[in-house]
Amino acid sequence: MTRNTDDRRFAELLHHRRDRLEQGDPITPPLVSAATYHLPRSDVGGFIYGRMSMPTWEEVEAQLAILEGGHCVSFPSGMAAISAALFATVTAGRRVILPSDGYYTTRLFAEAFLRPFGVTVDYVATTEAEAADFTGAGVVYIETPSNPGLEVCDIRAIATRAHAAGAVVIVDNTTLTPVLQRPLDLGADIVVAADTKAPGGHSDVLFGHVATRDVGLLQRVKDWRKLSGAVPGAFEAWLVHRGLETLEVRMERMCASAGVIASRLAAHPRVQGLRYPGLAGDASHATMARQASGFGFLIGMTLESAEAAEKFLADCPFIARSTSFGSTHSAGERRARWGDAVPEGFLRLSIGLEPVEALWDAMAQALDG
Ligand SMILES: *Cc1c(COP(=O)(O)O)cnc(C)c1O
Repeated sequence: MTRNTDDRRFAELLHHRRDRLEQGDPITPPLVSAATYHLPRSDVGGFIYGRMSMPTWEEVEAQLAILEGGHCVSFPSGMAAISAALFATVTAGRRVILPSDGYYTTRLFAEAFLRPFGVTVDYVATTEAEAADFTGAGVVYIETPSNPGLEVCDIRAIATRAHAAGAVVIVDNTTLTPVLQRPLDLGADIVVAADTKAPGGHSDVLFGHVATRDVGLLQRVKDWRKLSGAVPGAFEAWLVHRGLETLEVRMERMCASAGVIASRLAAHPRVQGLRYPGLAGDASHATMARQASGFGFLIGMTLESAEAAEKFLADCPFIARSTSFGSTHSAGERRARWGDAVPEGFLRLSIGLEPVEALWDAMAQALDG
């Protein structure tokens, strides 16, 4: 993935409505929340009923398709996209292989709703996925870099081996977004993502999408949405459309700041552990340098104790004390409070749009104070 093709798709994203516009049409997409559509005939195309399709979803799906390089289906949350992709691909009696260290709710979902229906649910650590045994797997699901540990795996290598075993490959691409990593180009069959994070980008909307180039899988996922009724709202789609217009420029600032802050944190005497894949010495660096065009805005930082980590957050005025990530403002939280398998003093930091020196000054004071 070269920088030039990236630039082209970000420009295309901003002008994607161009060829459909008629004299007097709004440049920005109208927010259409209609449930029903003028339907005197049933033998022609067009919109029929809001659970089947909606004009405002199609606008955001057109943007996402440009970014992902595949067809996209939007959902009301990241988990709605993930459950759609899994229900569209799992089979009773076959294995689904999930990351043991990825997004926690995906595992809860599999235990509550896949295992009871006879799906064999197996877990593999992200760093062990490349060498894992895929025999009997119908689905190999990976998350790279993983949330919250920022471990990575080689998407292309895993896709090759999973396909040889007859499995469909699903990649949760939430942490990097398609601005930085395009799993479909690397051999994945399906991408799932929470657009609640950086694509929405302002902590004011839940949204998700599934991307694929396989028309059979696309139809399954669309049928799931239509029949299960897990449909996004028009206003949410409209907000994400607006968010996606600035995603590339926000990512540029957030990733650049994360790089600066990570290298300073790594040199700070109070920091016991520091994960940022952009640091040359990080275990995730080499693989990510190969398969992504940037290293993201998430940093994993470990202080000496839970109390020290909480005090750092309390003392830093420019880090919101909230869950989630990818918003305009920096945010941080101690993940052990939710049961993630990380040290008690581990903080997941999401670097936002604050000017980097103002943010760093506040962080350094909170560390030194
Ligand atoms: C947040 C997140 C999700 C779930 O997204 P929601 O919109 O909260 O449902 C899935 N995967 C990863 C990696 C996430 O960070």
